Amino acid sequence: MAGQNQYNSRTLSTYLPSDTKIFALGGLGEVGKNTYCIECNDEIIIIDAGVMFPDDSLLGVDYVIPDYTYLIRNQKKIKALLITHGHEDHIGGIPYLLKVCSISDIYASKFAAGLIQKKLEEHRMSNRAVIHIINKDSRFTSKYFHIGFFDITHSIPDSYGLAIQTPNGWILSTGDYKFDLTPIGSNADYQRISYMGEFGIDLLMSDSTNSEVPGFSISEKTVAKSIDEIMEKTKGRIIIATFSSNVHRIQQIISAAIKFGRKICVIGRSMENVVQIARDLGHIKAKDDDFIEPTLLDSYQANKLCVLCTGSQGEPMAALSRIANGSHRFVTIIPGDTVVFSSNPIPGNASSVNGVVNNLTRLGAIVLTNSMLNNLHTTGHANKEEQKLMLQLVKPRFFMPMHGEYKMLRMHADTATEVGVPADHIFICANGDILVLRNHEVYMCDTNRIQTDDIYIDGNDSSGIATAVLKDRQVLANNGLVSVIVTINSQNNTILCRPNIVSRGFIFIKEGQELLRDAELVVYKAVRRKMAQKTTFGEIKNCIRESLEPYFYSKTHRNPIIIPVILNHIDGQALRKR
Ligand SMILES: [Zn+2]
Ligand SMILES: [Zn+2]
Repeated sequence: MAGQNQYNSRTLSTYLPSDTKIFALGGLGEVGKNTYCIECNDEIIIIDAGVMFPDDSLLGVDYVIPDYTYLIRNQKKIKALLITHGHEDHIGGIPYLLKVCSISDIYASKFAAGLIQKKLEEHRMSNRAVIHIINKDSRFTSKYFHIGFFDITHSIPDSYGLAIQTPNGWILSTGDYKFDLTPIGSNADYQRISYMGEFGIDLLMSDSTNSEVPGFSISEKTVAKSIDEIMEKTKGRIIIATFSSNVHRIQQIISAAIKFGRKICVIGRSMENVVQIARDLGHIKAKDDDFIEPTLLDSYQANKLCVLCTGSQGEPMAALSRIANGSHRFVTIIPGDTVVFSSNPIPGNASSVNGVVNNLTRLGAIVLTNSMLNNLHTTGHANKEEQKLMLQLVKPRFFMPMHGEYKMLRMHADTATEVGVPADHIFICANGDILVLRNHEVYMCDTNRIQTDDIYIDGNDSSGIATAVLKDRQVLANNGLVSVIVTINSQNNTILCRPNIVSRGFIFIKEGQELLRDAELVVYKAVRRKMAQKTTFGEIKNCIRESLEPYFYSKTHRNPIIIPVILNHIDGQALRKR
């Protein structure tokens, strides 16, 4: 693909310690686990440490994090972890990173710091790192890097972009952003962004989430108006669900409720946490007596109430799902309640959300979801025209789309060519690809990559053992399980009775009876042959697997997990060996 006017066409086969290297351990080719690194000589700066939420195929996995091996091996070089904002896909990996890698200094905005602190307390790790609070006037300085922060608008307060001076040139990272000319909360710092553009940015790294969405995103003020209207016109109770991190939205809901004489009842742990932190930091303005405890819901008139809850994504354990299936401790749907989703389902959650909507409707609720007509939600990410504006303000010499799946990165690259960035100055990278900034020129290294992978977190385990467990679960889900019980006497090397096979999720038992009986015979013959010689339990187990796997595959085209169980009867005493 090399040649003029192609993406990724400027390549290098080697780089020097003194070059500035830019790479991602997570965030490229996916929406989630954002972890970008910038390295020069003996220094590494990490930007964000996020998690990704698993899709349905990852049965039982709680989170996905990047493989931190490179950072563990280069721990001594790590100078700081800089956090752009407090969303989980940017801070959720911090406890797991700190567990394996010592990082003494984290720099984060006030609100993100509050969330990180809470997270570290939950993991009993509060003393692992010092969190430095940054604002738009802060500077981070090390031997090779000088980094400044600028205000950006996003769906969580205190979001920053970064301007990074390195010995080889300037990098600007937008962080997650949108342009909203009438935002709730802070404005993007247009002046500073364009000043930096004027000054000369060598490489722009920019948010690609909404690359495929044309036009400008709607303003948070438009959403505010819609919520006001609902609060005013609705006759009964209002139950409203949104992302707990979307503090500006929560503020609007609370303000609207107060304005129309409704008391607010906050339900769901993450919502309670965020409302508390945001009130402490002054992002949410409300008085104590604007809120009521859930136990008091029945003592207020329906049109004087607004329940604010989690579960806008149909998460099964969240408040709204419990309300919808009638299992919530305090909230029971009364016919005539209005339930508002001030959110859009994240791709992958649509069917869960649908299930919740149906259940609520069945119980007699009027359910309002976001649409073109009612503006109950807006995105926190730049649409295509906003991405163009960013490119126009910064006028970067080189461009790397970030924060997105491959097609989003690709669309963003195409958009950049539309505003005049030459294609051969654009790099669509994957996690682990290394961009080299050398004397204001950017190249992609075509011979070397950083090791990257997905690590699955199940509960509190981050050792990667969960990864093996998960593979078993996938085999179980796709192929089922077969357990083979063989009873032997190891003293005289005999099989005492016909092997017994039990299966779950493998074949429909009634139709499979014959197959399983034949399989028992296959095992019997194989084990008898094996036991004619001197053998061990381990060998017998392998023999069982080796005889059954090809047999089952030839008959069913499935590879179930096979668990041999050997019962050893010696002098009438049963020793069960697995
Ligand atoms: Zn974000
Ligand atoms: Zn993000």
